[in-house]
Amino acid sequence: MFEKKPKLTSTKTKKRDIPSGLWVKCDDCDEMIYNQELIANLKVCPKCDRHFPMTARERISALADMGTFQETNANMTSVDMLKFTGMAAYTERLKTYQRQTQLNDAVITGLCQIRGHPVTLGVMDFTFLGASMGSVVGEKITAVIESATERAIPSIIVAASGGARMYEGILSLMQMAKTSAALARHAKERLPYIAVLTHPTTAGVMASFASLGDVIMAEPKALIGFAGPRVIKETTQQELPDGFQTSEFMLEHGLIDIIVHRKELRDAISKTLQYFAANGGRKSKAA
Ligand SMILES: [Zn+2]
Repeated sequence: MFEKKPKLTSTKTKKRDIPSGLWVKCDDCDEMIYNQELIANLKVCPKCDRHFPMTARERISALADMGTFQETNANMTSVDMLKFTGMAAYTERLKTYQRQTQLNDAVITGLCQIRGHPVTLGVMDFTFLGASMGSVVGEKITAVIESATERAIPSIIVAASGGARMYEGILSLMQMAKTSAALARHAKERLPYIAVLTHPTTAGVMASFASLGDVIMAEPKALIGFAGPRVIKETTQQELPDGFQTSEFMLEHGLIDIIVHRKELRDAISKTLQYFAANGGRKSKAA
């Protein structure tokens, strides 16, 4: 009655022989994506919409008007103040990451225009030591906010961070107060500040400038929070609710204002800038 079926062997467990760098596997939907296609799609999975991490340079070219970005403090580099030799010498780590990422530290800052609106832009890069905030990250973020205050223009920061940079001890924690104080001076002039939270934005960065935006945007399904879910679970011994510390959870609980798909981010930012520009470029007194 039935034809004898040939025995099937599963190919699922078989490792596919893929030349590295050409194809990327999406961890969410298992789709194999041609790397060039992923880059052309702003690093968003064409099948399931997963937002892959972007480098700071990719992010800047996706947001800034072409040819307008002028980098500031490009040559600022960290020094090993504590002579940190714990797990690996800090200076060695810095050198390795500088070579691998072609960055001097975990943030790129500068001036640019977004759809014709002049702004300052700071973009963190998770590929450099987990975008941890040390003195250089804190100083560059502070300087770029101060530059926005001097020029009376809005400031935008695209955040991503694993937290404070332990290699710099207390110096890295001081950056939380320093960046927040720069934003307070910017806010005193009623100048707008937009924070864009990307996967993952946590710890010292989340507890300072990332959560201080007049408008806080987040990419879908980004991990956002102070301590990570595993730490909270182990400390409290409590089961955490579904989707805990995702953008969607944070929106529901009022910590962020809007979730924006990466393809719509430039539009959302420029519309927000347009809104403030129509108001004389300043926040209303009541805000
Ligand atoms: Zn996918």
